[in-house]
Amino acid sequence: MKLELIKQAALINGEWLPAQEGIPVCNPATGQELGQVPALSSAHIHDAIKAAKKAFLSWRKTSALERSKLLEAFYQEILSNEAQLASIVTLENGKPLNEALAEVRYTASFVQWFSQESRRIYGDTIPGNRSSQRLLVQKEPVGVCAMITPWNFPSAMLGRKMAAALAAGCTLVAKPAESTPFSALALGVLAQRVGFPKGVINIVTGDPQEIGALFCSSPLISKISFTGSTRVGRLLMSQSAGTLKRLSLELGGNAPFVVCADASLEAALDGAMASKFRNCGQTCIASNRFLVHSSLYPAFVKGLTERVEKLRVGAGHVEDIDLGPMINQAAVQKVKELLLDATQKGARILTGGIPQGDSLFVKPTVLVDATAQCKLWNTEIFGPVASITPFDTDEEAILLANDTSYGLAAYLYTQSSKRAWELSEALAYGMVGLNTGRISTAQAPFGGIKQSGLGREGGRYGLDEYLQLKYICHELI
Ligand code: NAP
Repeated sequence: MKLELIKQAALINGEWLPAQEGIPVCNPATGQELGQVPALSSAHIHDAIKAAKKAFLSWRKTSALERSKLLEAFYQEILSNEAQLASIVTLENGKPLNEALAEVRYTASFVQWFSQESRRIYGDTIPGNRSSQRLLVQKEPVGVCAMITPWNFPSAMLGRKMAAALAAGCTLVAKPAESTPFSALALGVLAQRVGFPKGVINIVTGDPQEIGALFCSSPLISKISFTGSTRVGRLLMSQSAGTLKRLSLELGGNAPFVVCADASLEAALDGAMASKFRNCGQTCIASNRFLVHSSLYPAFVKGLTERVEKLRVGAGHVEDIDLGPMINQAAVQKVKELLLDATQKGARILTGGIPQGDSLFVKPTVLVDATAQCKLWNTEIFGPVASITPFDTDEEAILLANDTSYGLAAYLYTQSSKRAWELSEALAYGMVGLNTGRISTAQAPFGGIKQSGLGREGGRYGLDEYLQLKYICHELI
């Protein structure tokens, strides 16, 4: 397939600025260079911000119907090009092609959802104190939004931010991860094709620290929407203090996967595989700690080990596989260190193993007997490692599950409705998968609490992140 959507250029004010002093982008499965994107100067970033500000003045005045129609056309265009977009995701990120296709459809689903939701930005009227008074509340777009996105879902993480911002009437400057910029730039090509006005969508590439600092300090930018690590989220928050920006921070997680004594074992094993090994374990909502009631523990450990042994690891762009490579050496090194630490503290590997050499292909691994003293207990593993711990009572399960500073997603398996409610409510997380390992969908609010961030993406709540309230007090004179 000819990948004409791979664009080796940045999008500023409707123009494509080609890579001259480029940043190479490589296929993690082969190390081969796929192309380059520009290392933009700060002057270019300022140009992009100014273009977004200028475009905002007219984009904010478009009708909800106009924005809805453009987003609907964008949605159709993404679907028409889904095979090519999926190939780009697999080439730059390494995930299996079927997962890449699912990601592209997930991206499209946000664009469709927000194309419809843009027509439901309702205000309010409030009874006044006098018959001559009318009190109105209307919602307005917040302004120019800066978006910084990670490599693990290079299409969807930008798609869900873009769609909500555009639906609200905001314009944007986006900076995708430097290892996976082509999926984001391809969305820029398609958005241009369907007719978004120049300057409404700008996509820049270059030094992350410099661009992040420029976004945070720019008085022209009203909001920063970031998905990535808690470390960088905190940095952006502190850098934004001077300009008091609105912030949405979708950060890291440390998801517990709790299997109660009355759970369906088969359903729990299915959910465990889905939540743990997608994208080679490199998802923010990946199960990080499996907590299994002692009565089911032996059967769960056996069942998970058997399933993990069947997983096929390989290069997603040439063969049908379950797990691709990890994104880079640093990611492999982290998994290696966590496994070394855990095994030195008494944990046992039942299948898989500690990564050796410098390959990015890591064996999916099942580990038992890891304790809260092991680093992996409190670290987002972000790799294909499943650590299983038994528990005896519901109280103990909740204590273990909440024993983390993160609060993104949690999973709970039980067939008792009483337990389902009580434990879901006791889990200190922004999202709970109850008898399911698949929770992401466009109409639901995705996001975390505690060190997992601020704000929600998706659903009607996701639109509010790009809107501000204006109260108008009208005296009838
Ligand atoms: P990361 O290092 O924080 O990078 C994320 C983005 O921030 C990238 O675009 C990166 O650019 C940029 N960045 C890095 N340093 C920066 C700085 N000083 N200022 C401004 N931007 C900067 O995270 P990652 O390792 O790529 O992604 C994995 C993390 O994302 C995990 O913790 C995962 O849980 C989290 N995540 C959360 C969600 C969610 O919805 N909650 C979803 C997906 C991922 P470069 O890549 O160019 O360096």
